Amino acid sequence: MQTIGLLGGMSWESSVEYYRIVNERVKERLGGLHSARCLLLSVDFAEIEVLMRTAQWEEITDRLIQAAQRLELAGADFLLICTNTMHKVAPQVQEAVGIPLLHIADATGAKIRAAGLHHVALLGTRATMVEPFYRQRLERNYGLKVTIPAEKEIEDINRIIFEELCRGRIEDASKRRYVSIMERMASAGAEGVILGCTEIGLLVGSADCPVPLFDTTQIHAEAAVDFALQ
Ligand code: GLU
Repeated sequence: MQTIGLLGGMSWESSVEYYRIVNERVKERLGGLHSARCLLLSVDFAEIEVLMRTAQWEEITDRLIQAAQRLELAGADFLLICTNTMHKVAPQVQEAVGIPLLHIADATGAKIRAAGLHHVALLGTRATMVEPFYRQRLERNYGLKVTIPAEKEIEDINRIIFEELCRGRIEDASKRRYVSIMERMASAGAEGVILGCTEIGLLVGSADCPVPLFDTTQIHAEAAVDFALQ
C-alpha cells in the first residue's frame, strides 16, 4: 500500500471526513485491522481564507507548494489537495513536486462518466462554480455539460460554505436552500449534481436530491485508496 499525502485544513471540517473515508475504504478493501497509510498536513484556514478573499493567489500557490513539498519529503507517494477550490493552483503544485497529484475533478469526472451521465449541475465555492479551472476540466476531459446556479443562488451557496459549513455549523434553513437549488437545477435538466466543495456533504446527502449526487470528498478519498492499493 502506498502512502497517501493529504493536504488539508481547508477546512478541517472536511479533512476529518477524508481521514475517515480513506480508513473506511482500506478496511472495506483489505478487511481485518487494515488502515490507510497516510500523512496529513493541515494548514491554518483563517490565513488561507484571507488570502483568497483578497485574491492573493501567488501567495496561496507558494504556501500550497511548500506544504506539498513537505508531504513529499515526509514520504507521501502521491498527493491530494483536500479542497476543490484550491485546485485552481493544482497545476503549479503538481509541477513543484516529484509525486503525482490526484486531481479532484478527474476523480469526479471519471465517476460521472462511469454512471453514464452527461449533464450535471455544479455546486461549490464561487471560484469553483464561476471560474473556468474546474468546469473546463470536466467539460474538456470528460465531455460533460456542466451547469452552474444563478447569481443569487451562487451567493447563498458560497456564503453558507464559508460562514457555516467551514465553521462546523449545520443549519436547517441552509439545507432547505441547497435542496431547493438542487431541485430547481434537476428540473431544468441536470441529470446529476456535483457537491464540488468538500464540506457540502456535511449538509446534504443523496436522500435530499431527486437526481444522483456526486460528493467530491467521498469520490476523491476513495480514488486515493484505489490508487494506493494499485
Ligand atoms: N473546502 C472547500 C472546497 O472544496 C472550500 C474551502 C476552500 O476554499 O478551500 O472548495
